[in-house]
Amino acid sequence: MTTAIVLGGGISGLAAAHRLGRAGVRVTLLEASPQLGGLGTFFAREGRSVERFYHCVMPTDEHLLPLLEELGLRESIMWKPTTMGMVVEGKRYPFNTAIDLIRFTPLSFLRRIRFGVMSLLLRRLGRGKDLDNIRIGDWLRGLYGDVIWKRMLIPMLGSKFGARFGDVPALYVWQRLGREKNVATRGYPAGGYESIIDGLRASIEATGADVRTEAKVSALSADGAGVRVTLASGEEITADWAVSTLPLPTLRDVADDTLAPKLPTVSLEYQGVVNVLFFLRKRLDGHYWAPVIDSGTEFDGVIEMSELSGQHDGLHLVYVMHYCNRESELFQDTDEAIAQRWTEQLLATYPDRITADDVAEVRVFRAPFVEPIYPLGYSAVQPADEITGTRLLLATTTQVYPEVTSWNSSTGVAGRVVDRLLARDRDRTAGGNRPEKARTEELSA
Ligand SMILES: Cc1cc2nc3c(=O)[nH]c(=O)nc-3n(C[C@H](O)[C@H](O)[C@H](O)COP(=O)(O)OP(=O)(O)OC[C@H]3O[C@@H](n4cnc5c(N)ncnc54)[C@H](O)[C@@H]3O)c2cc1C
Repeated sequence: MTTAIVLGGGISGLAAAHRLGRAGVRVTLLEASPQLGGLGTFFAREGRSVERFYHCVMPTDEHLLPLLEELGLRESIMWKPTTMGMVVEGKRYPFNTAIDLIRFTPLSFLRRIRFGVMSLLLRRLGRGKDLDNIRIGDWLRGLYGDVIWKRMLIPMLGSKFGARFGDVPALYVWQRLGREKNVATRGYPAGGYESIIDGLRASIEATGADVRTEAKVSALSADGAGVRVTLASGEEITADWAVSTLPLPTLRDVADDTLAPKLPTVSLEYQGVVNVLFFLRKRLDGHYWAPVIDSGTEFDGVIEMSELSGQHDGLHLVYVMHYCNRESELFQDTDEAIAQRWTEQLLATYPDRITADDVAEVRVFRAPFVEPIYPLGYSAVQPADEITGTRLLLATTTQVYPEVTSWNSSTGVAGRVVDRLLARDRDRTAGGNRPEKARTEELSA
């Protein structure tokens, strides 16, 4: 029986293990933390689970929704129309309809018209252009002008990338607008993301797989004959194949001296995130999402999750976030200091809605590797799905581009990578005595 090790138990690892197991491969899944789910993990509060980081499903999630169908969970997605707001210089606006745009005074009247017209035409204007080699800043500034770019587009579309947003290829925005068309409808699983993670675990284990948490990979070697993983505990595990879902910097840290030179050479920086979850006794404005611009806050957006997921024990869940580098001062700050400052800033943003007495609980979460910052022309240097000359394949967020990082795109990449692995495995078993190089060349051809 073919064996495979999956490194990492976020959605990429879970989706890969699920597919491999169903294809008859004996899988060992290794997750460093005590919980499966990666960025989609949750904690228990008052008998219900709550995600650490806000997550929702989109109707356009073409890879995730079929996976949920296989798990019998597609019907559990609660679809709801949601709305968007904007907070500019401390003033709050609804931002959903043409009337909202006409009334949006932070932009002059002519700019409001320009914003509306360009936004309607943007997808069409991008067709046929080499957007992978055009900076977002150059493309959008040309279409919308400097003021709309700075005032609206950076906060609305670029908060994940910080000051680097303008340099990211325009293809990213073009693709994102495609995913978010008809954005008003969003979905959330009735049993929370925990239900998806549990469903995946059960389905993976049903194939005879070994799913292990608190199993941190500390060393990895891979060649044309197989893979060997060493855990932090010292235990060694070997297999025919491995799929790594670890962020590239982590993979480089664990790769041995023979494997390291074969790994992708692209030097990618990652944005992390600081994300604070408030349990509030009162509702804010009722918008699922509101970018916060020039309003004296350290956070860039407010997500009223309860508008989608429902209240929690009578409380409203509100997430606020700022994407930043893991070395930044904010990321390194203490939970207590961030909680205190961001509570004051939230109260100052919604003085007519909440007072300090309405804040029942505050939790601070952070993640170091969330969003790779794609350089111009990234398609040409994007890591390939397999490491040539080895039996190691990659299914990471660096490969989802130009799709947006999400459970959907990770599920898509995991499926593609597993198909590749299975094809190579069929070739191995059919032509086992041919040299590895010849088989790889044949496959590439
Ligand atoms: C604030 C925020 C909001 C988001 N909102 C949405 C949303 O609304 N919808 C959506 O679809 N997506 C959303 N995302 C994006 C989504 O969460 C990610 O794209 C996705 O979870 C990436 O999955 P992954 O498995 O590739 O990585 P991860 O989830 O990061 O999983 C990697 C796993 O590898 C493990 N690991 C690391 N090192 C080791 C090691 N040495 N040994 C073993 N295991 C290791 C980690 O513990 C982790 O569990 C959001 C993300 C954030 C942070």
